[in-house]
Amino acid sequence: MSERAERAGRAGRSEGFEGFLRDVRRRVLPHAELSVVERLWRERLYRKLANYLWVQFLMGRGATRMWGGHPYWLTLDPSNFCQLHCPFCPTGANKGTRNKAMMDFDHFKKFMDRVGPYVIRMELMNWGESLFNRRLPDMIAEAKRHGISLELHENFNHVSEETVEKLVRSGLDVISISVDGLTQETYERYRVGGRLESVLANLETLVRKRHELASPTPRIIWQFLVFRHNEHEVDRVEEFARARGADDVRIKPPYLPTDEPFLAAWMPRDPRFQLYPVPPGPEPEGPAPMPNKGVRSSQALRVRRFRPTQILRSAYLRDLLAMIDSPADAARAAGMVGRALVQWIRPESVEGHALIRARPGDTPGFCEWPWAGMTINPEGSVSPCCAIEDQADDFGNVFAERWSALWNGRSYRTARRHVRRFSRGKATIRTDSDHPCVRCTVIGNIRFDLNATRPSA
Ligand code: SF4
Repeated sequence: MSERAERAGRAGRSEGFEGFLRDVRRRVLPHAELSVVERLWRERLYRKLANYLWVQFLMGRGATRMWGGHPYWLTLDPSNFCQLHCPFCPTGANKGTRNKAMMDFDHFKKFMDRVGPYVIRMELMNWGESLFNRRLPDMIAEAKRHGISLELHENFNHVSEETVEKLVRSGLDVISISVDGLTQETYERYRVGGRLESVLANLETLVRKRHELASPTPRIIWQFLVFRHNEHEVDRVEEFARARGADDVRIKPPYLPTDEPFLAAWMPRDPRFQLYPVPPGPEPEGPAPMPNKGVRSSQALRVRRFRPTQILRSAYLRDLLAMIDSPADAARAAGMVGRALVQWIRPESVEGHALIRARPGDTPGFCEWPWAGMTINPEGSVSPCCAIEDQADDFGNVFAERWSALWNGRSYRTARRHVRRFSRGKATIRTDSDHPCVRCTVIGNIRFDLNATRPSA
């Protein structure tokens, strides 16, 4: 090895012009991915590319103000109504942590005109079934007009043939359908109130429509969350899903409440799908506890309970009525209101559970959300990331506030400062803080993977 190469190696540098460029990139844009740069360049999305590099630069320096940089990843929730009762979802458990709403198309369009040119990827999902929003296909088409890569997440229990056709025509890139069971029995243990038969019939319609319209999109992903009760099905998921037209299968560990009774009963035995340490003690017997059935959490979040006056608010009523198209829809809407009232009458059954947790052994690091991503709820409120359930933790509202006042506002600046200091070992987690990022326990595990379909957590 030459003396120069040795010197470069000692200083942690590479040799030659290419090495020089690599070093500059490592120092100036430590998180940037060349494959993303190449793709944006190839697709001539120059504005998105310039924004991506600028945000990477600001993020690498830990800037608290964004100086013209915009988020390039959006998680956007078109509706937070849902007909299922998945026990660990705040909507399914009816925890009343957020007002119910459908996103207004005109608001969405205005917002897209503002930030769409910078956004690379958008996930349509969060705390509800997006398909309840009738304008969903229009929203997808609008986002595609801005060259955004889109993934829609669905339980796919109720969807008409007409909507399926609109989805295929909208230009949607990927649809991820959550099916965590190969029999009705295993499926409905978590997707409470869902019918596997309906999901499979709707999937068949989607595959047929895509074929009829000769459309290569949307790519269909079968998502399977692995729990204790369905882990024996993992080896068969791939074959089962592909036989029904899925293009891909995504098998994932679920985020669970971290209290022992839940972990012991719900977490799979297979270590590949465990996000948490195995609780000590013997295996529990009997049915798995449900969080809204009287098992109290030791780490309850601040839960804003549903208030009956919400029903009287015109927006809530209007949204609810917009869902109703048939007697079955009316029954579902009545059920949602009824359950909300029961939760209000029996407040002891409303308990929060801990935020998602880091894997044991993970080192503290960095979270990209405050610089590169944004989570937008149906009425325009902004959460720092998709893990934040409680409306009280939101940072503002994109439909009601000036963009720069929100994106460079106090909440975002505090988030960026804390994550930067935390990643440099100068700050610790303060669980008593009012700010969700300051008390966050998953910093270091959140990275956006623009080449995949979800942020890796
Ligand atoms: S630091 Fe935690 S709460 Fe804040 S954006 Fe990141 S994951 Fe979310």
